[in-house]
Amino acid sequence: MRIDIIGAGPAGSYAAYNLAKLGHKVKVYERDSDIGKPVQCTGILSDYFESLMKPDPSFVLNTVDKTRIYAPNGRFVEAKIKKNFVICRKKFDNYVANLAKKEGVEYTLNASYKNHSLEAKGVASRINLAGKEIISKADALVGADGPNSEVARSAGILSDRKFIIGTQVEAKLKNDNVVEFYPYIGVYAWIVPVTSTSARIGVAAYKRSSELFKEFTLKRAGKLIPIENQSGVIPIFNPRQKAQKGRVYLIGDAATFNKATSGGGINQALKAAKILAECIDRGEDYDKAWRKEMFLNLYAHYIMHRMMLRFSEKDWNRLVEIFSQEKMKKLLFSESRDRVVSMGLRAIFTEPRLFAYARRFPFEDLRYLI
Ligand SMILES: Cc1cc2nc3c(=O)[nH]c(=O)nc-3n(C[C@H](O)[C@H](O)[C@H](O)COP(=O)(O)OP(=O)(O)OC[C@H]3O[C@@H](n4cnc5c(N)ncnc54)[C@H](O)[C@@H]3O)c2cc1C
Repeated sequence: MRIDIIGAGPAGSYAAYNLAKLGHKVKVYERDSDIGKPVQCTGILSDYFESLMKPDPSFVLNTVDKTRIYAPNGRFVEAKIKKNFVICRKKFDNYVANLAKKEGVEYTLNASYKNHSLEAKGVASRINLAGKEIISKADALVGADGPNSEVARSAGILSDRKFIIGTQVEAKLKNDNVVEFYPYIGVYAWIVPVTSTSARIGVAAYKRSSELFKEFTLKRAGKLIPIENQSGVIPIFNPRQKAQKGRVYLIGDAATFNKATSGGGINQALKAAKILAECIDRGEDYDKAWRKEMFLNLYAHYIMHRMMLRFSEKDWNRLVEIFSQEKMKKLLFSESRDRVVSMGLRAIFTEPRLFAYARRFPFEDLRYLI
């Protein structure tokens, strides 16, 4: 089959690679002149990444196996976690694109997709290539064009999606190679070490993201010496999201496949890309397949996010105190943070005091399961 993919991020290039390996003829159109630029990402990947792809030294900048989770009262729990990878997004995006190119995928840069129309046997995409409109015809079209997906809009499946703004800089900051997490600031705030003297520092919030960022960094680190601004938009997973309309498909952030508790979307982008390639190849229903393999976990992150929005300072203080117990630290270490369903269930059975948080449960969101 001839397949057009819009967007050369991790989702687009990994889908291209997998489809080309299965013998399909794939073209990727990317709006920017450089793959992997601008960087709008912290680039931290949980251990789950290793089950999807081999972490290559060419893009891994650091590994981290400890976290500190802070409460509003200043206390924190320090726990060991499974090895997380801190990557360079520019190098990673190019690494995945090069895998695809080696399989024969054709890349066109400075190519901005506008919209598409359906034809008797395929899809015709209108693309602005350096000021001129071209039409690209293919049997199928894949939208891997990020949170504000034009492919989703043109297909009529943009849905009622919500976004948080991630304000982040990479800056000079001496650190002890621990991921710091502040779940009570905005939607969450973080410090992710890159080297012993630099880190990615950010705040994600629905509103006032940059003000909260200024307050947070001033308090935590004083005046920052920025290396790069890496801010961007993060979609909140929409449980009602459709990721297929006929021969048009969505993957990655374009499909809102992002963990609502942390903004992590790279592992989910890679996973969806693989599922999609297999579905296109076998002529199977992609919406059914991703829901079967990915929905429950994304939905659990979404429910936890909605619950956390309702937490008071007291709730956070108590939660950090509960997780300071050795039995809870063990649990944090033994579970991947990508597997939030099993982590949540095990946490409740290990510490029944967590049942008290049921009063914050967003029962109205259970309607998405029906
Ligand atoms: C501040 C911040 C921090 C984050 N931290 C993490 C993290 O630590 N770990 C993690 O896993 N995730 C993180 N994320 C999320 C992660 O960046 C995304 O989930 C991931 O990039 C999704 O990959 P993608 O390929 O779907 O989309 P993108 O990486 O957004 O790629 C989309 C591509 O499509 C191109 N494009 C867009 N529109 C068009 C068009 N009309 N025509 C042609 N091309 C187009 C874009 O230029 C881009 O290259 C973070 C996000 C932000 C904003």
